[in-house]
Amino acid sequence: MYLKRRLSKSLTTFKGLYFGQKRKSFSTKRYQVTIGIGGNVGDVKRRFNHLLVFLQADVRVDIIKTSLILKNPPFGFIDQDDFFNSIIVLQVNMQARAFLDYLMRLEKKFGRCRSFANAPRTLDLDIIFFDNRVIKTDILTVPHVDWFNRESVTIPLAGMR
Ligand code: ADP
Ligand code: MG
Repeated sequence: MYLKRRLSKSLTTFKGLYFGQKRKSFSTKRYQVTIGIGGNVGDVKRRFNHLLVFLQADVRVDIIKTSLILKNPPFGFIDQDDFFNSIIVLQVNMQARAFLDYLMRLEKKFGRCRSFANAPRTLDLDIIFFDNRVIKTDILTVPHVDWFNRESVTIPLAGMR
């Protein structure tokens, strides 16, 4: 069940049991991480719920809060279905690199296969912020490149409290 709200012709938000909710305000884990989740293949909202159930049960992460889910048009390769995106704030003890590996494993677990840039995807997991770190390596850029220009990030993020 979702509370659906149309923001504009192309943008719709969904508030549900797992999304648009504050969870924990306290965690003993060291780093606060903001991740962006997205997808546009199959039943994405259902996959997001499965991810939340998985994260909730994983002792390596504490879920602090989740944003609403935003349905929004694709960019780049535009001849594909609309995307669903959301933001999750977690606390973890993993270092940034280890946490990226963790996310890549989760993408695989939830059925992602990579084809081409901006292609349709089952689940994309991106690190938007990792504490207040600035990281620039070949495999990891934090904060995420261009996050502030993407409605898929800024709209869900703006609605979080
Ligand atoms: P995108 O998310 O840009 O659509 P991908 O998910 O296919 O594309 O990204 C591929 C690579 O991006 C990953 O293998 C990872 O090494 C790199 N990457 C760099 N910075 C980040 C980040 N902040 N979060 C997630 N992946 C990142
Ligand atoms: Mg990605």
